Amino acid sequence: MHLDSLYQEIILDHYRHPHNKGLREPYDAEVHHVNPTCGDEVTLRVRLDGDKVVDVSYDSLGCSISQASASVMTDLVVGKDVEEANEVHQAFLELMQSRGAGEPDEEVLEDAVAFAGVSRYPARIKCALLGWMAWKDAVARTMDNVSEATS
Ligand code: ZN
Repeated sequence: MHLDSLYQEIILDHYRHPHNKGLREPYDAEVHHVNPTCGDEVTLRVRLDGDKVVDVSYDSLGCSISQASASVMTDLVVGKDVEEANEVHQAFLELMQSRGAGEPDEEVLEDAVAFAGVSRYPARIKCALLGWMAWKDAVARTMDNVSEATS
């Protein structure tokens, strides 16, 4: 119970004071993702330098879970290599698929552990994953652009 309310606080804090929010330039790719079941939307930009994630900026609207998750996600991926960031993404996906039974690694997921309880509510999992899916898509498009430019 105590842990759940602590997690709730983390989510509300990111919702009220989102990190890295607002669209910035320069960027390599921009995507727009929608979660129609809840009405959440995110426009997200990624800037890479080689394999390093230099910036992730976004604009979003929707429920507190989708907003807070996007904020937490940017904290976790900016400054990492794409491969490291993908590992965090994978850990978060596994947590969301754990139906409440996951034991998140706080070393890897940091504030994202707060979403552990969301995995018990299938309708909300898409909210928590929206920003992450947008990030993954934007990185894939950036990689495509790079390989087209060099081929
Ligand atoms: Zn939502």
